[in-house]
Amino acid sequence: MRVTVLAGGVGGARFVTGLRGALGADDEITVVVNTGDDLWLSGVRLQPDIDSILYALAGVNDTERGWGRADETERVSAELRAWGAGWPWFTLGDLDLGTHLARTGWLREGLTPSQVAERLSARWPIGARLLPMTDAEVDTHVVVEGGDRLHFQEWWTRHRASLRAVAFANPGIEAATPGAGVVEAITGADVVVLAPSNPVVSIGPILQVPGIRVALGDARRVVGISPIIGGKVVRGMADACLAAIGVETSADAVARLYGRRAAGGVLDTWLVAEEDAALAPALAAEGWDVRVQPLWMSDPATSAALARAAITP
Ligand code: GDP
Ligand code: CA
Repeated sequence: MRVTVLAGGVGGARFVTGLRGALGADDEITVVVNTGDDLWLSGVRLQPDIDSILYALAGVNDTERGWGRADETERVSAELRAWGAGWPWFTLGDLDLGTHLARTGWLREGLTPSQVAERLSARWPIGARLLPMTDAEVDTHVVVEGGDRLHFQEWWTRHRASLRAVAFANPGIEAATPGAGVVEAITGADVVVLAPSNPVVSIGPILQVPGIRVALGDARRVVGISPIIGGKVVRGMADACLAAIGVETSADAVARLYGRRAAGGVLDTWLVAEEDAALAPALAAEGWDVRVQPLWMSDPATSAALARAAITP
């Protein structure tokens, strides 16, 4: 079976790890990863969502913190802070910096981000292909109340999403093209899954890359998993992003944001949590194939069970 997942960082990584556990050696997993969180800092290119998925699949991620490498140290970051370089509130682990330096070196040698992702993935038997959504640099910016414009990472990490966001933008995205293999991975899959990732700043930028919505229209089957359980974002601050675009933090509002393919949207099937079972009848009446399912990914077993449910016709 060929499964293609559209994903952000941590929610995406949990889901893809579960999917790998649910599938066999003959099955193919491709992950189209958000690159809107990417940025240049102290001369190196960071790709947080790609690295979150890479580290999780490689089993070298820090499961306690939820991001970065396990057994990490921060000596280089301390030096950068002493130099007044970079962002003092944005710590880069030493092992993580190794990844960023390798990536930046390869980009400087002329490799595309897609080629770099392939090289990074070759280090460990991760059991999946990681495809950046695009090779163009279309970092996410946030416009906050008062009109200031920040890089997404500054709003998210420095301000913990506390400044009220009024808009998100990915400058240049209208001229971007899907990364190498992305369209084929979507149209050639037996099923495409929108991971339970942040709908606004993880899945949102992927859907905005010209050509990706069209490819989803040509896909065999597209299934989405609610990142909202019981009216709450499970981990993180995705509610601050939803509020900025006028969408309620609820499983049905996110479903309607994505929309049904039969009605110009991107999904055929929507998985909601048991806590949100009461929302299912109204969605079904609108024509949704809505399924009620445990959606907590608390360990490899629950993540694999969710993945199995998502890919079941
Ligand atoms: P990020 O890029 O690291 O912010 O990660 P993602 O965009 O992939 O995912 C973040 C979102 O995943 C969170 O805001 C949650 O809504 C969702 N999420 C995280 N863990 C779970 C889980 O166990 N189950 C479900 N259904 N959603 C989750
Ligand atoms: Ca992210």
